[in-house]
Amino acid sequence: MGIKFQDYYEVLGLKRDATQKEIKSAYRRLARKHHPDLHPGSEKTAAEEKFKRINEAYEVLNDPDKREKYDRLGENWQAGEDFHHQPTAEGAQYYTNTGQSGFSDFFETLFGGARGDFSSFRGRQYRETPQRGSDIEAELELTLEEAYRGGTKSLQLNVRDICAGCGGSGLKGQGFCAACAGTGEQPAHKTLSVKIPPGTREGTRIRLRGQGGDSPGGQKGDLYLRVRLLPHPFFAIKDGDLESELTVSPWQAVLGDKVDAATIDGKATITVPPGTRSGRRLRLRGRGLVAKDGSRGDHYLKISIDIPQDTRPEEKELYQKLSELRKG
Ligand SMILES: [Zn+2]
Repeated sequence: MGIKFQDYYEVLGLKRDATQKEIKSAYRRLARKHHPDLHPGSEKTAAEEKFKRINEAYEVLNDPDKREKYDRLGENWQAGEDFHHQPTAEGAQYYTNTGQSGFSDFFETLFGGARGDFSSFRGRQYRETPQRGSDIEAELELTLEEAYRGGTKSLQLNVRDICAGCGGSGLKGQGFCAACAGTGEQPAHKTLSVKIPPGTREGTRIRLRGQGGDSPGGQKGDLYLRVRLLPHPFFAIKDGDLESELTVSPWQAVLGDKVDAATIDGKATITVPPGTRSGRRLRLRGRGLVAKDGSRGDHYLKISIDIPQDTRPEEKELYQKLSELRKG
């Protein structure tokens, strides 16, 4: 069964080395000229046919991936001959349908997905290189706790969809599409559920397979999320270690005490040794962040001695006594 080769350059009246700009302007000019609404009555059917061919040609030549694939096919082409497709079960079924898009069998076979089999095309090896959409990188802001514990987070992404008003052509009637201002695209939101592995650190890249850019070949690119940690109200991050301030009273610092301190794993009871000075760092071993090998950093508690502002008379007396003892 033969499929008629479509000369897209001829349809748009272009040379094979036409620039992107020339392709766009030829398309716009011809699409306006042959728009079916401008050709009523007996001319309408012919105009519709012509308009479809123009749109199909533009669909291919305006897309760098599709154009490259088409150009490669052209090298194996001899004018006036149709190429023969090895009929497979899928293929046979396919030929009985006219393409949903109204595009030619040629287009559907070449770009319509995995149905085409070009391995035996004209007796030459025609290797179809897999086409993949582009990878996208985005930033993912997490709190320290979210990153440390892991879990699932909902993420809203701004993406660009094909304009529903014009199907991506950028044209509507005789003018540009107002819905997309002629760009053929519209901004859209996409909500993704992201799995965050426990122990995620600043700069970790989380890969979401198939959530990247679109591709005419059907295989989407990947989305990479680079983790950025939001500043924590109490914990400072120093490489794999954490640091926070621990406020104690003067008598706790002098006599020593057991006090509660916040750690990333929750509350922990800490022994403040007698005679602890302001600025001393107490180490909580293994209470820091998780390293790649699963080992953990430490948490340092920096001692800060708080002087009470609401001293009562009897307390003042005691301080007075302390002062005299020190003088004596
Ligand atoms: Zn539009």
